[in-house]
Amino acid sequence: MAFNIAVDGPAGAGKSTIAKAVAKKMNLIYVDTGAMYRAMALFMIREGIAISDTDKVIEKCKKADITIRYEDGIQVVLLNGENVNAFLRTEEVGNAASAVSVIPEVRAKLVELQKALAANTDCIMDGRDIGTCVLPHAQVKIYLTADSLVRAKRRYEELVAKGVDCDLDAVHKDIQERDYRDMNRATSPLRQAEDAVLLDTSNLSVEQVIDKMIALCAH
Ligand code: C5P
Repeated sequence: MAFNIAVDGPAGAGKSTIAKAVAKKMNLIYVDTGAMYRAMALFMIREGIAISDTDKVIEKCKKADITIRYEDGIQVVLLNGENVNAFLRTEEVGNAASAVSVIPEVRAKLVELQKALAANTDCIMDGRDIGTCVLPHAQVKIYLTADSLVRAKRRYEELVAKGVDCDLDAVHKDIQERDYRDMNRATSPLRQAEDAVLLDTSNLSVEQVIDKMIALCAH
């Protein structure tokens, strides 16, 4: 049986930064499931489909072939054969991903892919429903969170560093809206699995969180 670590938590908690670093240190594959929802959202945006039009999204999602492959240890998301990594990290795509991920048919398609990947790969997978739904039998489960204002400040600083013109209040509002949507949707809402360890990163450095996670895996 493959060794799986499930990491869940709200937007901006530091999941991907931490999971990537832990993957490197523990020689595991890092699986970013948010990128798959983002690729689905990108497909809908490109096809001119309003995400609010659920029936159209369900119909179109059958035409989106999303797969992942690894190049030099980096996850590459292929949308109908095209490497779309460069288009996934915008706020527009992130918000559309949060909206599209509410739809059960979209989730079913991507969850199947994630389960298949983890079944034969030692990996650390991050998302919103990994410990509760995708990998209920993961050997280690972590729920990573932080105060919403701390998360907004981190996201804001990331965007500023990339040269994006943005406003902290708007980023904070965005994070709160995304939290609300992720935690209150009917299918696989974001919540801490009963057997997950809670790690609040509000007052911890990246290094401290990595050390705590590795210590948890050693148990
Ligand atoms: O983690 P990231 O911000 O890239 O995810 C984008 C959106 O995809 C999230 O806001 C969430 O709504 C959705 N998502 C999800 N289930 C996952 C991963 C991401 O619903 N396992």
